[in-house]
Amino acid sequence: MNIIESGISFRGLSNRSRTTRIILHHAAKATCSVQDIQRWHLANGWAGIGYHFVVRKNGTIERGRPEHTQGAHASGSNFDSIGICFEGNFDAETMGAAQKNAGIELIQYLKNKYGISKVYGHRDLMATGCPGNKFPFNDLVAGRMNNPYSGWVKDEKGWWYRNANGSYPKSCWLKLDAWYYFDEQGYALSGQWIRYKNKWYYLKSDCRMATGWQKVDGRWYYLKQDTGEMLTGWQEVGGNWYYLSKSSDDLPEGAMATGEMKDGNHTYYLQDSGAMLKGWIKRKGSWYYYNEDNNCQPIGSMMRNHWQGGYYLKDDGRMASGEVLEIGGERFEFGADGKVKK
Ligand SMILES: [Zn+2]
Repeated sequence: MNIIESGISFRGLSNRSRTTRIILHHAAKATCSVQDIQRWHLANGWAGIGYHFVVRKNGTIERGRPEHTQGAHASGSNFDSIGICFEGNFDAETMGAAQKNAGIELIQYLKNKYGISKVYGHRDLMATGCPGNKFPFNDLVAGRMNNPYSGWVKDEKGWWYRNANGSYPKSCWLKLDAWYYFDEQGYALSGQWIRYKNKWYYLKSDCRMATGWQKVDGRWYYLKQDTGEMLTGWQEVGGNWYYLSKSSDDLPEGAMATGEMKDGNHTYYLQDSGAMLKGWIKRKGSWYYYNEDNNCQPIGSMMRNHWQGGYYLKDDGRMASGEVLEIGGERFEFGADGKVKK
């Protein structure tokens, strides 16, 4: 415990003959130091601050009136007591952990030093509201410390996560309500990709690891639902097939492809939504058919040199129409609608 010597001077103090109890007060003011109270009490015409100690909200303890002298804090009870004042107005606010823990330490210290056990609130002794209805009197006397804070902290550089013992995660993942990644300084990454064990992950603007579909710089990516790792290549999601670029493709790795795409010997068509097309589509004035079943060609691949429901798909995939073709040694005349004329 560290008591700050305030170095304030007093006019004509008298020594206290005995010490049998501790009396607790609040300042009834949200913010004040020992010097502020000194000014107020001097203005009362007193010898100086009436309390022996002031416990600040930040947990520091400031010395007021010298400990062996008689205080001026509880009329009729000053002759045998030590007065402690807590910064704050505990009719209006609750006490934070730092101040509470410091108060507990000080009370315990004085009890041991003087071999006493009696602690009072000012209002136990006279008609006053001090130290306030929200003052944690029982916790202070019983020495019930507030658990130190653990949780998110924001400072000028960003968000970090404080463990109860004051340590913090760095250069690692941490699962809270979602997964988070902390850099070597302990700040949670946001709005960026991270390469981890040869996989890409994305940390959203709220620092949470992305899962599922995620749009980044105008392109869609798919992060595996449970682990968050970026997927590449053909992936079936929600009953549709998508192509997520590989590092060897033109698009950035993982980016969802749209439009026509060649893979091996086959051509596929990815709709604007990214979902692979199956069935008929008319593009650039011609009809095409993309395989709806797994017979003879992979599903979704553009059918070529193939009869489909009475229509013929040529070598370039276009449906034959308004033309005469020889197929398998036979002549076929196709109408403008693609149907065989005879
Ligand atoms: Zn009081």
